[in-house]
Amino acid sequence: MSGPIARPEVFAVAPYVGGESVLPGVARVVKLSSNEGAFGAPPAAREALAQAAANLHRYPDGGMARLRGSIGAAFGLDAARIVCGNGSDELISLLIQAYGGSGTELIMSAHGFAIYEIAGKLAGCVVHKAPEPELIADVDNVLALVNDATRMVFIANPNNPTGALLGADEMARLRANLPAHVLLVVDAAYAEYVERADYDAGVGLVDAGDNTVMTRTFSKIFGLGGARLGWAYAPPAIVDVLNRMRPPFNVNAGAALAAEAALAAPGWIEQGRAHNTQARALLAQRLIQSGLVVHPSEANFLLVDFGAPSRAQAADAFLRGQGIIVRNVTSYGLPSCLRITIGTDEECGLVAQALSEFVHG
Ligand SMILES: *Cc1c(COP(=O)(O)O)cnc(C)c1O
Repeated sequence: MSGPIARPEVFAVAPYVGGESVLPGVARVVKLSSNEGAFGAPPAAREALAQAAANLHRYPDGGMARLRGSIGAAFGLDAARIVCGNGSDELISLLIQAYGGSGTELIMSAHGFAIYEIAGKLAGCVVHKAPEPELIADVDNVLALVNDATRMVFIANPNNPTGALLGADEMARLRANLPAHVLLVVDAAYAEYVERADYDAGVGLVDAGDNTVMTRTFSKIFGLGGARLGWAYAPPAIVDVLNRMRPPFNVNAGAALAAEAALAAPGWIEQGRAHNTQARALLAQRLIQSGLVVHPSEANFLLVDFGAPSRAQAADAFLRGQGIIVRNVTSYGLPSCLRITIGTDEECGLVAQALSEFVHG
């Protein structure tokens, strides 16, 4: 061995595997594996991206002032407390690099989003997972893991891949019982889909103190996953830290213009949310009629339990045979389950029909 040697933390993680998108020999793939939003990107966003090509030689505004203004206006937030990122994944990693590191500990829930563990280990943190016996983050189990080395707690709300949501009271109880120096990161990637009245995407907790951050994304309801754009809403001191940490031009110009156009598309969120709520209920009903166990979800996907890992694998293979790709969630500690994204009515009908055939055939 004479080549360069990377830091040992790098080898503590396996490379992230995203939802698959191609099936050999299948012309039309129904891709329900990455929660990308049922309707693609708003037409105005695609148009804005095409027009961005005219200025391809210009660097973007690294501070994303205009986009932050649009986000602030759309969601009723102070633009000075917003930081944009190359996907919310980037902001999560930057937060961990800033507040974590070797000798520190990070807490997530047992079936929480994979990036927290990957980014945490890469930064040298010890990552603890709080048991979720009911497949929902358990505040007491999280609090039981806190010690002097704890620096960060990550909660996706709603969570991916379970779809479970913690109400505002539980989130407030979590924050109130964490030490003040522990940063709570509320990952609200699916916030726009939530209809429950007892939900706070994180804004209330961010505003109430100086130790909570909310992250959001354009990858889900806005259909801009390919553009890579996320944002954080944070107290001023954490905004300052993120602005020091982030690469100077971390968000590309095309993504920024597409996102502004997406925010301006009239009714996009409302229509996407309304479709999701009714299509999710109908799909759940059809899967339950087929005898499957469906976990309650507040997001744009359903976690479906097939009772045994072998049966989940068989269902996955059967769906692939029909050109349908869903998400295997074995790496999330859920080997008996598959996660199915809510697509269009037609796509939901296809997966419901296929799983009915799987169960009965
Ligand atoms: C999809 C997802 C993200 C990633 O969003 P990007 O902005 O595309 O990086 C973050 N958190 C959760 C829980 C997600 O499901």
